[in-house]
Amino acid sequence: MSDKLVDLDQKHFIHPTSSVQQQQQEGPAFIFEKGEGIYLTDTKGETYIDAMSSLWNVNIGHGRSELAEASKAQMEKLAFSSAFSTFSHEPAIRLAEKIASIAPESLSAVFFTSGGSEANDSAFKLARHYWRLKGEPERRKILSRKKAYHGVAAASTSATGIPEFWDMAGTFMPDFIHAETPYEKSTKEAIDSMRQVIEDEGPETIAAFIAEPVQGAGGVIIPPDDYFKEVRKLCDEYGILFIADEIITGFARTGTMFGMENWGVTPDLMTFAKGVTSGYIPFGGVIISDAIHEMLKQSSGTLFHGFTYSGHPTSSAVALKNIEILEEENLAENSRKMGERLLKGFQQVKENTNIVGDVRAIGLLGAVELVKDPATNEHFPADWKVVSKAIKALHNRGIICRSVAFDDTDIICFSPPLIINEDQIDTIIENVQEAVLEVE
Ligand code: PLP
Repeated sequence: MSDKLVDLDQKHFIHPTSSVQQQQQEGPAFIFEKGEGIYLTDTKGETYIDAMSSLWNVNIGHGRSELAEASKAQMEKLAFSSAFSTFSHEPAIRLAEKIASIAPESLSAVFFTSGGSEANDSAFKLARHYWRLKGEPERRKILSRKKAYHGVAAASTSATGIPEFWDMAGTFMPDFIHAETPYEKSTKEAIDSMRQVIEDEGPETIAAFIAEPVQGAGGVIIPPDDYFKEVRKLCDEYGILFIADEIITGFARTGTMFGMENWGVTPDLMTFAKGVTSGYIPFGGVIISDAIHEMLKQSSGTLFHGFTYSGHPTSSAVALKNIEILEEENLAENSRKMGERLLKGFQQVKENTNIVGDVRAIGLLGAVELVKDPATNEHFPADWKVVSKAIKALHNRGIICRSVAFDDTDIICFSPPLIINEDQIDTIIENVQEAVLEVE
């Protein structure tokens, strides 16, 4: 069965963000067929800890029948109907209200999408539209940061700050610009770089700044405590809208319902996806400020922006049940507590090994960085592929996690389901230590 599936996979399935050549040479390393709690089981019957919540998204864990039931009930009642124009339906209305109730007070209207890339593209268009309606149509540029990951649709690829993602399209779109991020840089250096880019481009041409509260695919980069307050000040100084990309950090991942709460900063738009349904069904959206909503209300024109699946009834019903579970099981609190344990564990690993540099975690979003010399923070040469070896060693020990190896970094990322318990955290830590000792 498994061999047959490998053969069919190689012949017919183009994997997202992967090497097609490697797929042809090696086939898929895992074909998963079952998930339960924090565990995934493959077709060979091997069970693994899903220490990435798959793609940073299975927040409430695998195998939750409540979500399957919510989906079934909604599909049986009304699987799909349009939300375009004057059509509406209860699940999307209830979900929009629920999301508004957990978002910052001044953000209380939601536009739904099918995923994160669409959410960010929508946020950029909404920001530009806002400025057009406000009489400043020259504000079109979107400022983002190096190492940012905002998705793979045309505009979200352009906002992404990892050059490898631009190559496929030759370059990124015009009117997208990138400043420094506070990775191995202070708040001052990052903010100075932002200011410089804004001044060079002309503040009157910039519509919005976008940032992940914690940069995920760039290597789980947690900013210094004062960073986002300074970002907010700078955006206000130049009248630039602030978009928080909460696609990984939203829905309790970092110990609070939304990541930006950690720094007490309120953005103008927030994009979300992933954790809103814990990955059980595709979904996403943008929450907009009341000021932007007001501007839309004042315009008599049609908002020419809508996906067939904007506000999909089944996805909405699943999201509502998922948020109910996050709240009832207090998973933001568990994320915070277990995250503290994870970080302590990482610190122990650093002490007990010789190639661990920075370790970090905020809630259940963490990273262990491998460096040639922890004293000087000298990175390994890229061709040593240290992090790939470490990930393989972890896989061999039954832990699924993910590497980041851009710009000569060797970072192991962790983002386990928020239902994880202390023993399971300790199992991850023990295995990380063994894997690092094996490759050092
Ligand atoms: N933004 C962030 C921070 C992400 O991590 C991702 C996906 O990993 C996206 C946007 C894109 O979301 P999607 O893959 O659902 O289009």
